[in-house]
Amino acid sequence: MASNGSHFKRFIFILLDGAPYEIFKGLIENGDLPNIKKHVVDRGSLNKAISVFPSTTGPAFIPFFMGLYPGTANIPGIRWLSKSNFHTPHRFKRPGICSYMGLDGLGFETDLPPNSPTLFDFFSPVSNIYNLLARGCPPSKNLTRWIKPFFYTYAHFSHRWRFVNQIAARHLHRAVEAGDKFVMCLFPAVDTLSHLTEIQSPQVLQTYREIDTAIGELIHTLQKMSTLQETLILITSDHGMTNTHTHIDVPLHLDDGGWKCLHYPKVWRQDTVSASMVSGNGMTHLYFKNNSDGKGWGERTSFEKLRKMGVISSLIELEGLGLVACQSEAGDIIVQSRDGQGRISCRSEHTDRGNRQNATTTFKYSDTLRFSYQFTGTDPLGYGMPCKNLSSREVLHKTYDSPYPDGIVQLWQIFKSERTGDLVLSAENGYDLRARYEIPEHRATHGALIAEHLYIPLATNYPIAEKYIRSVDVFPTVLSLCGHNIAMDHIDGRIVK
Ligand SMILES: [Zn+2]
Repeated sequence: MASNGSHFKRFIFILLDGAPYEIFKGLIENGDLPNIKKHVVDRGSLNKAISVFPSTTGPAFIPFFMGLYPGTANIPGIRWLSKSNFHTPHRFKRPGICSYMGLDGLGFETDLPPNSPTLFDFFSPVSNIYNLLARGCPPSKNLTRWIKPFFYTYAHFSHRWRFVNQIAARHLHRAVEAGDKFVMCLFPAVDTLSHLTEIQSPQVLQTYREIDTAIGELIHTLQKMSTLQETLILITSDHGMTNTHTHIDVPLHLDDGGWKCLHYPKVWRQDTVSASMVSGNGMTHLYFKNNSDGKGWGERTSFEKLRKMGVISSLIELEGLGLVACQSEAGDIIVQSRDGQGRISCRSEHTDRGNRQNATTTFKYSDTLRFSYQFTGTDPLGYGMPCKNLSSREVLHKTYDSPYPDGIVQLWQIFKSERTGDLVLSAENGYDLRARYEIPEHRATHGALIAEHLYIPLATNYPIAEKYIRSVDVFPTVLSLCGHNIAMDHIDGRIVK
């Protein structure tokens, strides 16, 4: 609440695309971000929150704005394929295959669940800067809608991403001066410059400092307007990042194994029987043609069938591939690594007690879901202990400080999406899953299920004491701090205090 005990009247949401928790925290502690430290963290808190799988721009924005997992929202990657809609001869008609990196980025909002509100629906006036999830924001208040494609293209070729950030800072300042009640500002340069260089290169660290300066000016303006006390400021990131030393060529591996692979930008390849839709590039969805009528791509291929095909054993031998996940015929999620296998199952304790829920279960009764996890061999998720009948929150607590934090719920949620692959691959730290056609070459990676990609900073000028926070919790928490009510049974997040 605001310092006078009432609700906040204004909300400023700053998203530093690709800022890992550890780096952000280190910069705060070293005095590199004096404005954020003094006016946000010291007045409130800095928490280590957990993003979603896939930990990538686009899907990882949905939790903040809608309180939904990417799987619930049916947007399981920055690229995906929908087996049920991907038919010849109309296979490129939406929503068959998609990459939000290209023109499909314009269709992002239309792919979202139609009846779920976004943060923009709760405030007026609002403004949006660079963020692609602008549903609910009037077009005239989507301040960068005309310049974004031009500036992004310019920066892509010139690498002048700090300039793109400066434009963001200018718009942020103006929107606050204009008195907008919700201002969303995305700073893209930490992510893009990290991909180009490394996660702590001089350019990237300079970018953090410039954002801090912009926030100092913002605070100054709020003080001048005497509205600082009534303004909730939240600074976060959609995912962490790690440096990349090796690119794994998944499509080539599939080609060599006899599963000719469709992948961006080679989406016109003929006679393909598999597809790789990569995000971040630490994760990818793999789809296998599995049809009986010879026309479409069929249904999701089960673990049992994939094992028989030899595709799982062939993939897990790849150096740097952390794990593969898929769904069994019974609906469980199977996690396979080189040395072990895990099995995630989920039951509902709602009215029809004990009924096994498959991955299409709605999250409406999320508080009654009970997760179990067991493994053989070395635990692929690194927990080292089985779980039995735990709530989603209990899973979060138990796995928070592990190599795959929240991995049980995150793998379960991604398979709820019809567009999720038959197999979902997650790379190890240091590796990515795209060896060709990434121009310029990526030297940093995100997207995977690993802790380094999932941990994000959550800095607020109001203290949040809760230690275990998911990015899906931000939506209801912010709305509650600003005095808005939201029907909790339609979202995946919970209010944290
Ligand atoms: Zn990125």
